[in-house]
Amino acid sequence: MKVLLYFPIKHLEINNQYYNSMNQRFFTILIFLFFFVAISAQNKSFTKQDTLRGSITPEREWWDLTYYHLDINVNPDEKFISGKNTIQYRVIQNYNIIQIDLQAPLNLTKAIQNGEELNIRHVGNAHFITLKDQQEIGSIKSLDVFYEGKPKEAVRAPWDGGLSWKKDPNGNHFVATSCQGLGASVWWPNKDHMYDEVDSMLISVNIPKGFTNVSNGRLRKLEEHNDNTVTSHWFVNNPINNYGVNINIGDYVHFSEVYDGEKGRLDMDYYVLPDNLEKAKEHFIDAPRMMKAFEHWFGPYPFYEDGFKLVEVPYLGMEHQSSITYGNQYKKGYLGNDLSGTGWGLKFDFIIIHEAGHEWFANNITNKDVADMWIHESFTSYSENLFLDYYYGKVASAEYVIGTRKLIKNDIPIIGPYHVNQEGSGLDKYYKGSNMLHTLRQLIEDDEKWRQILRGLNTSFYHQTVTTQQIENYLSKQTGIDLTEFFNQYLRDIRIPTFEYEIKNNEIKYRWINIVDNFDMPIQVILDDKEQWIFPKAKWKTQPIQSQSIIIDKDFYIKTSKL
Ligand SMILES: [Zn+2]
Repeated sequence: MKVLLYFPIKHLEINNQYYNSMNQRFFTILIFLFFFVAISAQNKSFTKQDTLRGSITPEREWWDLTYYHLDINVNPDEKFISGKNTIQYRVIQNYNIIQIDLQAPLNLTKAIQNGEELNIRHVGNAHFITLKDQQEIGSIKSLDVFYEGKPKEAVRAPWDGGLSWKKDPNGNHFVATSCQGLGASVWWPNKDHMYDEVDSMLISVNIPKGFTNVSNGRLRKLEEHNDNTVTSHWFVNNPINNYGVNINIGDYVHFSEVYDGEKGRLDMDYYVLPDNLEKAKEHFIDAPRMMKAFEHWFGPYPFYEDGFKLVEVPYLGMEHQSSITYGNQYKKGYLGNDLSGTGWGLKFDFIIIHEAGHEWFANNITNKDVADMWIHESFTSYSENLFLDYYYGKVASAEYVIGTRKLIKNDIPIIGPYHVNQEGSGLDKYYKGSNMLHTLRQLIEDDEKWRQILRGLNTSFYHQTVTTQQIENYLSKQTGIDLTEFFNQYLRDIRIPTFEYEIKNNEIKYRWINIVDNFDMPIQVILDDKEQWIFPKAKWKTQPIQSQSIIIDKDFYIKTSKL
């Protein structure tokens, strides 16, 4: 997720027509804040903590995660968490210091292997534990780390992340975690780097009796205790990224359906507040509609074993794997608004479609480094228009994706700096990315082939963490087009390729400007009433023309400049 610092801006723009100068001032401040944030991201200098968090350190590299058992008590009255994580791993190199991440103000209190308590060196949010056991290559080892404290509270979930300790309208606890970007170590100890996903996970959460916790995967067991608490055990039978793990505690009611999908029967479960039950039963029709469209475009839902869930939360939403969290107020669009301004954005619930799209791009195919987060957000933003394409056709979907161009900032490149847990452009990995993919679809000129490529991505990189290079190479190979410069232009540069042209004396001359070296993307145009491809380069080219105009296909995300 996280589309969206810009949405509030747009929202305020609408309001400006009706409200007074106070609001305008707030709007100006917001714009200023936005640019300030964008500029600071660009000039950010990185600390040792950023490197420890964002790189594959020697203390991470030598072991491969196999299993977590997160076993915790959550006390909403005290806003307090305590418990342990049992971390199982395979030794792949000789080493005996292990890095576990846990963010202040939580305390990593103890580490135990084979019954022996171990020494921990705390370096900010990274904790280095010296192991006493022989770590033979190929062996499977287990380490228990204990922790407790009051975790960072989310102020603007899901944008800042942490714990949301809220109350529902009836005054009941309504608690949720969200931690994209910030990292799962904000609420539980783990190997907090995207490259290594655990193979499976058990999540045991002890909470006050009367409430329900919903996590990822399937509910294995519910245990009631004499101390007025209840423990739910949720098992995730598939690799899962850390930020995808979540707990959601509330006065939930539950309903479900079985979806007849490409891989068989898929359990779809919905957890909502009791007052919203009737509304949800109608509104969540977008969930099976989503499943149908996305299985068509992307292939089978990647987590049949774990089922699919929508879980109501006290914030907007997040792509938590197999338990998508939902807070879009049972409205169509993005909180009732159409991000594209075309009307098509009101044909679906943005959070259901966007966050569930991430099951394929983010949860199935996961970036190794958040610098490559376009792999999550560009494809998922693109999935919004593929949903429209499936139900409303190609014209609708093109109008939608073209409509979202007004959200593109071209502030900094989509790909960020590597190894420091830093994303690229906060905004452009969404709709600049989706417009880049829409442009690529034009170049392929074969929608069935394009669909097979999207499905192929999801089988070739099934349950894997990947680099941008792997995705770029795959797309070049499968399309048969060398896309090196195409991706350099759109992912690593902020300039929009500009088609410069002049029509004079029955001749048109044209070229590309504002391009990276060797960028030579062809485009579709109408010249003399004839639809055709032209092949501009950095050098001028000429071609005879009878008429005085050229029409350039709007599906290409480029600029034009007439001399
Ligand atoms: Zn997203």
